[in-house]
Amino acid sequence: MIMPVTHCRLLFVKCRLANKLPAVSGLVDGDEIVQQIREVSSELVLHISAAGFHSLRARRSFTGGEVVCSFSARQDVAHPTYFSLQVDDDRHIELFPEYLQYLNHSCAPSVFLDVVRGLIIALGAIAEGDEITFFYPATEWRMTQAFECQCRTNECLGVIRGAATLPKDVLARYTLAPHVQRKLAARNAVSKS
Ligand SMILES: [Zn+2]
Repeated sequence: MIMPVTHCRLLFVKCRLANKLPAVSGLVDGDEIVQQIREVSSELVLHISAAGFHSLRARRSFTGGEVVCSFSARQDVAHPTYFSLQVDDDRHIELFPEYLQYLNHSCAPSVFLDVVRGLIIALGAIAEGDEITFFYPATEWRMTQAFECQCRTNECLGVIRGAATLPKDVLARYTLAPHVQRKLAARNAVSKS
């Protein structure tokens, strides 16, 4: 998930003090200057911008339906947090590997999270260097912390609060986790009665 800005800044300052950051080489990601690139797995790299923004990027190309990586529960959390992933009606986990907390949201996502099998799967073709993003409401029914989406895609939905507040025709465009599909069916049944 997205790191709070304050935490990122602290991390950035710490790294800079330790003189571990490479000089800014002019690599630009959108309007962000990439300050550091960490190879976190054979499939993924983590970009950290000068402003402390984190994004996971593909190290190679993927085809639609291909598994990008697997994940599991680092631990269950009693209450959802900004970093947790909802995997069932009442179950929220923190992700392992830990770098998956930097999976950002997009209203035009590149992957979906198969919460039953613990797999991150490409929704379509992903080119090397593309950001790996998923649609948070695909797993989160009600988010603890709403946020203003900055995905800048034509599909952008603005403030993201979870699936509970989105119309069914919007949700129909996305691959949704089974627990979100169930809650949506229940909501639609109530609205029809
Ligand atoms: Zn958006």
